Amino acid sequence: MIRQAQKFLDKLELDRTGRPGRSALLANDDRIVGTGADDLCQLGHELLERLNVVAVALVEPALPFADFLIRKAGRAESCLVPRDTETRTFLHDIPFVRHQELATQPADQLARLLGNRKGILVEGLGIIATGAVTPEQAYINVSSIFHSVFVKYLLDILGEKSLSAEEQLALADFQKNWLKPLASDIAFAPAGTLDERAHILDEICRIGRETVRLGLVDSFFGNISLRHQETIYISQTAASLDELEGCIDPVPIDNSSTCGITASSELLAHQKVYAQTGARTLLHGHPKFAVIMSMICETAECPITDCWKDCPHVRQVGTIPIVAGEVGAGGLAERIAPVIGEPGAVMVFGHGVFAIGRDGFRDALAAMIATEEWCRNEYFRRLEANG
Ligand SMILES: [Zn+2]
Ligand SMILES: [Zn+2]
Repeated sequence: MIRQAQKFLDKLELDRTGRPGRSALLANDDRIVGTGADDLCQLGHELLERLNVVAVALVEPALPFADFLIRKAGRAESCLVPRDTETRTFLHDIPFVRHQELATQPADQLARLLGNRKGILVEGLGIIATGAVTPEQAYINVSSIFHSVFVKYLLDILGEKSLSAEEQLALADFQKNWLKPLASDIAFAPAGTLDERAHILDEICRIGRETVRLGLVDSFFGNISLRHQETIYISQTAASLDELEGCIDPVPIDNSSTCGITASSELLAHQKVYAQTGARTLLHGHPKFAVIMSMICETAECPITDCWKDCPHVRQVGTIPIVAGEVGAGGLAERIAPVIGEPGAVMVFGHGVFAIGRDGFRDALAAMIATEEWCRNEYFRRLEANG
């Protein structure tokens, strides 16, 4: 258990979610074991004694966006309600505690708030998330909260007239030091050479790791597939894209079989895309700036309440189409397939990017990167135009 805790603690620093040296991950395995910063381990220990969960993660985020959001929240508010799909379907909302509301011995207070929640935010301390059964779940919950807060803060400030000096400094630092160039120099296998099962699985695992390394997905969200003749090889639902070994299912391209139970919840979208385009590969991730840009509805007095699932229009940012719809049978699959062919990528409102490749994964990853890069540049262009 301690090895698991250490693995996911390392992951949180590696993907730049946590400030180096300022995280802890603890697990209850007959006795409580943990790793990380001493003060956070102490609090984590007290929380685990009070909670009916296996793991707890305490992470001071590498970006101060959560604290900014808490300070901007209205007096009566006690949770953040990000509108991205990940929050909607996974977290719902994120309760927070203001610094001045935090008790001097906060374990009881925080345990009560955590209850059966996936996680909470504490001003000045960071993200506290639980794992019901495994340390990995605590990691996933931290990662999801970090993602949702990132998207919400950056989206919110696009609509604000002026930012405090502290925020401006933090944003400059974020741009200069936290964001990394989206460049990949791995070699890709051309589609023509991908005709052997072992080779196909190997290539999918490699691309999965690269997608995670580039920060194009968060925690376990996202999926990858490759079509070979009448079979789609697709990553399983809840599989970590950087550890896909043994987690890839072969599924028939037509929907004739029910064997896709472990297959991705977005299998239907993959099937429809393959049926309607000549694609060989499909990459789906949640790159953060694409998620942000996809959520800007510019229709004046838009009459649709739930643009994220009900918007019937194919909108456009730059050359990239944006569609709306829910995962699975919720319409997303129907709307992606007809528009993805020409541009090679499509954004889904508040959710992420689907990108296809005709020659192995090379053009799929390139399309995903180009989409995120364009959104990143466009985001900062708009932010500057604001101030
Ligand atoms: Zn997704
Ligand atoms: Zn709208």
